[in-house]
Amino acid sequence: QSKAMGKNTYSLYNENMEAQLEEKLLIEKHLRNAIENDELEVYYQPQVSLSSGHINGVEALLRWHNPTLGFVPPDKFISIAEDSQLILKLGEWVAQTCIEQLQIWQQTHLANLHIAMNVSSVQFEDPDFIDQISNMMKQANLPNHLLEIELTERTVMSNVSDNIVRFNQIRSSGYGLSVDDFGTGYSSLSYLKRFPLSILKIDKSFVDGIPKDDDDKSIATAILNLAHSLNMHVVAEGVETIEQLLFLRELNCDFAQGYFISRPLPIYELEEWLQLNKGNFYYRHNDLKQLI
Ligand code: C2E
Ligand code: MG
Ligand code: MG
Ligand code: MG
Repeated sequence: QSKAMGKNTYSLYNENMEAQLEEKLLIEKHLRNAIENDELEVYYQPQVSLSSGHINGVEALLRWHNPTLGFVPPDKFISIAEDSQLILKLGEWVAQTCIEQLQIWQQTHLANLHIAMNVSSVQFEDPDFIDQISNMMKQANLPNHLLEIELTERTVMSNVSDNIVRFNQIRSSGYGLSVDDFGTGYSSLSYLKRFPLSILKIDKSFVDGIPKDDDDKSIATAILNLAHSLNMHVVAEGVETIEQLLFLRELNCDFAQGYFISRPLPIYELEEWLQLNKGNFYYRHNDLKQLI
């Protein structure tokens, strides 16, 4: 009996691994042509200053819709793209798209809006990365401060000796540099102190429990104190309620991003949303407009 069960479990496990591998290969195959087939789109999620309600910038989030596979979320396809080096091509496409968007905004009242762009460790470790971005920015005649590079805490804390050189290069060129999903990896405080980072993004998992969970509140407070004492600003990710927003504002958190403010939007909807809000998210909210 137990032997049969063991065997059964084993083969189930095996089939599951096979299915996973098959899915991965399928995704990789379709992803290979995603750019040429025009299946990618960049969505933008607004970031708001908590003290003033001012809309400060947007985070670029990649979306992929494939005719066969349907919508595939980035949490699924990014890691597959990283394993196959496809991420270099995708990352370049995202950068090009963001930079074209910044260039379009230069002719409008949105000229000061910045874009935060997620950059994978594979992309960041490519020795051409910084030159590539800088060439694109130069060609587009854009000031570098309009672009912020988002690296996950894991990326920031690996390859420390290479990173410090690159970080200095990035910051001395004027780009913003933020640490995404902060609190989920393992940060060495002595490195945090030495790295010229501009922003820490408090991971959504700690924002979720605010304002009810005392542990999450303590963690958020600790991250804010740490960041501010090291001259960094803080963005809270995944803000879904007005209670979270008001609590984070009380804690002097600098910026917030999340569904309560806006979901990530395709460019036309983002521009509509920006128009509606006239540059200030608090403006249209009865409970927030007295904070302006
Ligand atoms: P991330 O950079 O930490 O982005 C935040 C994720 O949380 C996004 O998921 C966003 O849609 C989602 N989010 C924002 N506010 C809320 C909220 O209030 N509630 C909830 N439940 N979710 C919220 P998304 O767009 O699915 O992206 C997932 C991850 O995929 C990103 O996490 C990022 O690590 C990666 N990613 C997305 N676009 C790119 C890209 O262009 N390049 C690279 N390398 N990675 C990307
Ligand atoms: Mg991000
Ligand atoms: Mg994040
Ligand atoms: Mg994330």
